[in-house]
Order: sequence, then structure tokens, then C-alpha cells
Amino acid sequence: MQEPVLVLNANFEPIHVCSTRRALGLILDGKANLILNGRGYIHTISQTLPRPSVIRLESQIHRPRPHVKLTRREIFRRDNYTCQYCGRRDVPLTVDHVIPRHMGGQHNWTNLVAACSPCNHRKGGRKVEEAHMHLAHIPKEPPANAAYIFGRHLSDNGEWEPYISGW
Ligand SMILES: [Zn+2]
Repeated sequence: MQEPVLVLNANFEPIHVCSTRRALGLILDGKANLILNGRGYIHTISQTLPRPSVIRLESQIHRPRPHVKLTRREIFRRDNYTCQYCGRRDVPLTVDHVIPRHMGGQHNWTNLVAACSPCNHRKGGRKVEEAHMHLAHIPKEPPANAAYIFGRHLSDNGEWEPYISGW
């Protein structure tokens, strides 16, 4: 019942991932309808219910423009799990403040990058130029399109692809 279900807005825009339990509640309350089953059925005492994979809300939810949440995991994903200073991928990553915090560096998408421990240590509390290092990319907020936001679910839920692409 905890398996993820993709929730589409009334206009078919993918907006959320919820649990199977929550999705069934929305369907039974008449707030959503089943778009894709694909996972068999759930048998209760009185009824047989489809096990949803994709549902769609009956009425359109209005919401602000989506943003990718600023977390370690999302920083590493944006940076393709690659140290932004030396380009290595086969090392444990840390998060580096490009402009160090003690120099007023902010905790945001444009000042945080993935860095391996040796590079992070070598840079220390200095700016990139002061440490004679180079960034592979100028860090930016990642795009908030559906393919990026929901992309990490696609390896386990390939059937969502047609509902996500293009948004
Ligand atoms: Zn490195």
C-alpha cells in the first residue's frame, strides 16, 4: 500500500507522488479517477479495487510554479554525482559552499556544488580563485520541469514516462 502513485492534475500535468493507500482514498472519495492500473487488484471484504499506478484529480489544483527542493541528494543529482572541481565520480561526495559561509556565501542553488572530500579539503575556507581551482559548471537552480522532478521515479515506474514527458 506504500507503492508510489503518480498524481496528475485535472489538466493531466503531473504534480505529485503519493502512496497507494492515499490514491485509493482519493478515488473512493470521488476526488480522483484511475488513469493507469497496471499493478493488479486489491481485494477487500466487500469489493475488488484496482491497484493504481497513475491517477488524475477531478478538479484542477492551483499551485505556484514548482521548484526542485534544495537537498544534498538533489545537489548531487544536478551535478551528475560528479565532483565539480576534479570531475571524479568514483568518490564519496560532500556539499561545498562555492563562496564560503564565513565570507557571506549563501545556502542556495547558485552557491552549492558537489565536491569530493579531497577537493573540499583542498579548497578549505577559500574562494575558488584563491584556491587556484576551477568549477566544471556555473551552479544554477535545476529546471523544475516534470521530467527532472519525477525523473528519479522512472527507473522503478517506467510506465509513468508518457505522463511525465513534455511537462
Ligand atoms: Zn574532487
